Amino acid sequence: MNQHIEALSPPAKPRKFGFFVDGQSVEAGSREVFERNSPGHGVPVTRIPKCTPEDLDDAVAAARRAFDDRRWSGLNGQARAAVLLRAGALIRERSEEIAYWETLENGKPISQARAEVGGCADMFEYASGLARSLHGDSFNNLGDGMFGLVTREPIGVVGIITPWNFPFLILCERVPYVLASGCTIVAKPSEVTSATTLILAEILSQAGLPDGVMNVVTGSGSTIGQGLIEHPLVDMLSFTGSTSVGRKVVEAAGRTNFKKLGLELGGKNPQIVFADADLEDAADGVAFGIGFNTGQCCVSGSRLIVERSVADDLARMIEEKFTKVVIGDPLNNATQIGAITTDAQNSTILSYIEKGRAEGARLICGGEQIGLGGGRSISPALFGDVTRDMAIAREEIFGPVLTIMPFDAVEEAIAIANDTEYGLAASVWTKNIDKALLVTRRVQAGRFWVNTTLAGGPELPLGGFKQSGWGREAGMYGVEEYTQVKSVHIEIGKRSPWIA
Ligand code: NDP
Repeated sequence: MNQHIEALSPPAKPRKFGFFVDGQSVEAGSREVFERNSPGHGVPVTRIPKCTPEDLDDAVAAARRAFDDRRWSGLNGQARAAVLLRAGALIRERSEEIAYWETLENGKPISQARAEVGGCADMFEYASGLARSLHGDSFNNLGDGMFGLVTREPIGVVGIITPWNFPFLILCERVPYVLASGCTIVAKPSEVTSATTLILAEILSQAGLPDGVMNVVTGSGSTIGQGLIEHPLVDMLSFTGSTSVGRKVVEAAGRTNFKKLGLELGGKNPQIVFADADLEDAADGVAFGIGFNTGQCCVSGSRLIVERSVADDLARMIEEKFTKVVIGDPLNNATQIGAITTDAQNSTILSYIEKGRAEGARLICGGEQIGLGGGRSISPALFGDVTRDMAIAREEIFGPVLTIMPFDAVEEAIAIANDTEYGLAASVWTKNIDKALLVTRRVQAGRFWVNTTLAGGPELPLGGFKQSGWGREAGMYGVEEYTQVKSVHIEIGKRSPWIA
């Protein structure tokens, strides 16, 4: 199923998936099943088992055994790299299938899903090289009697909890790097978007990953997710999702075994545009930064902070872009904005649009519920007359809602940009290198774009400042996060005695 199909339709009946433990797909059997409706079409597309607490224990036990007997961490880098490379090739082979199920469960446009899947194959290919280049350090300056080594060891069993906005992409920003480090995995996708995580488990098995190294449990966050964050046999947990559940993850780690945590949480990301920017580039980039994935993106550029002298012009240019963007059936190759992924998210976004109006902001365009046949979307909303204290300017909406705040001086732009509890991402648009560097240095954000937005590749790490999270994923930094450091002191020759 890898030809580029122009006109796709939802499946005639939902596809059944099993969860994945110790190298085997396990069918639902007598377990309850979650049936997912496509948010773009309103018809059932997948059936996913609801795992029991015993299933979770089995998955963690399998990952624990696979780590403790060193069947993966004991291999050399070349052998681990070979598996990751084969997995990358298999993702490419099955890319059309993965993109199709991703679109059906999430509602994103198929063209976007295809691009994401290609990026995921690239991450496996890049991480294969990291499996071979991960190394430690040595100290040859400790005197003739001592030699020091610093080694990196995989941390152990890693739990990975992923959200519904980029089910495959966020997974692949973690899994190949975790595997490159030598760790084993229990992944828990969001209940509403589990299919492509289960396809990845199958691919890894086909690629030669030993049984038990990659396990996937399915079910809700409040049951299986909560069980995973509390599990005493899990050594590290990577969580991506809301700041409120992030707090639960931190509390659970403190209550149980102090597992190491990686957290990628919310964002309220600034797009700072100076008058000397290429305004056509900036208007398109800002529209893309908030329209991409219907704004359901932790790095969405949701706050436009623009130099006052060009604010009206830029607002007009963005409005024009918003009115031209193609909103439609996610399976249509021409669609640029697809469906809102969940009913709850749809209501949240609409309620923020109402709140913005009620607080006195001016809705310049968009913000309307759009029917997509069986599903629904929201047209990108542009708000002017926004003040820093308004909810739409402060809270993560996770939808296509852009607020405009003008500034007069660079320091004011930096102050507005930093006036948030979050620090995930930021963009600056200017042709003046001094201003670009000043802003890049002073705005608190883990990812920065200059004269572009939402660009990237597997080399550069991801993660946030402030309440946007802890730690980094991807790149060599991402592999190192899943290791711990050991210092080895080696005495050379005879040790000088304590008791003569
Ligand atoms: P959540 O934080 O609830 O969900 C993210 C992941 O955590 C999902 O896999 C979810 O599972 C799981 N989860 C939920 N509760 C628990 C728990 N108690 N213990 C362990 N895991 C749990 O996000 P929502 O889906 O509710 O979205 C709400 C808001 O969060 C959005 O409006 C947005 O602001 C933000 N968000 C941010 C994301 C980011 O990328 N930073 C991603 C998603 C949301 P399940 O879905 O099966 O319940």
